[in-house]
Amino acid sequence: MLTSETLSEHPEDPHGFKRRGMMFVLSSPSGAGKSTIAGKLLHANPELQVSVSYTTRPIRPGEVDGVHYHFTDLETFRQMVANHEFLEWAHVFDHRYGTPKAQVWNALEQGHDILFDIDWQGAQQLHQLAGGDVVRVFILPPSMPILRDRLIGRRTDSMDVIDARMARAANEVSHWDGYDYVLVNDDVEECFECVKTILAAERLKRSRQTGIIGFIRKLLR
Ligand code: ADP
Ligand code: 5GP
Repeated sequence: MLTSETLSEHPEDPHGFKRRGMMFVLSSPSGAGKSTIAGKLLHANPELQVSVSYTTRPIRPGEVDGVHYHFTDLETFRQMVANHEFLEWAHVFDHRYGTPKAQVWNALEQGHDILFDIDWQGAQQLHQLAGGDVVRVFILPPSMPILRDRLIGRRTDSMDVIDARMARAANEVSHWDGYDYVLVNDDVEECFECVKTILAAERLKRSRQTGIIGFIRKLLR
């Protein structure tokens, strides 16, 4: 018999089976398009939860505290590290960024998928911590000149900051082999379709479909 042990309350779950959630990580060199893809993914999958990181970097025009990041000072960040409040944290561009632990494990057990926009250091730490619960997707630009054009076109950074991001980009790209999936964001719609497909396929992974056992028993009865 199919019971609440086997059936999911989430309409997006394949075949309606109860499922363990995943940590869906999107990384890219800055400017390659990860925020654009993440925005599209959230629009198409509003049930995705978003991990809102803490950062010591200054807020940018258009950003909202508590939505894009929790903006905080260095002392508070250090205290949070000392209190083990982060799943992972890293130095990025002279600032500190960290993923808060709060509610992640609960959310996974309840079958929620969580989207993370974090760098390769964060992806590596999450993978070490939670292996099978983590899906790592890396987005590449079609070329370095196009990456620079996108950073300029975004109009959020000064030329100095853009130069610093470009200087760091080659290092970030060199970590491509720490990911499960690697995509080139040439046509944004094509890239987005690939990311959607990865999410759908990962939801079907046997190890995540914790509720399928009830169905199998019924099938074989
Ligand atoms: P990231 O989050 O990786 O730093 P963004 O998503 O902010 O990058 O994208 C950087 C800029 O490039 C934005 O202005 C965005 O609109 C643009 N962009 C993203 N993907 C593409 C694409 N496939 N083709 C052209 N422009 C793109
Ligand atoms: P930005 O300052 O442009 O928002 O982000 C800079 C970089 O920091 C991006 O590559 C972003 O993915 C990464 N980042 C954001 N939050 C976190 C986090 O909590 N942990 C780690 N490791 N990286 C993060």
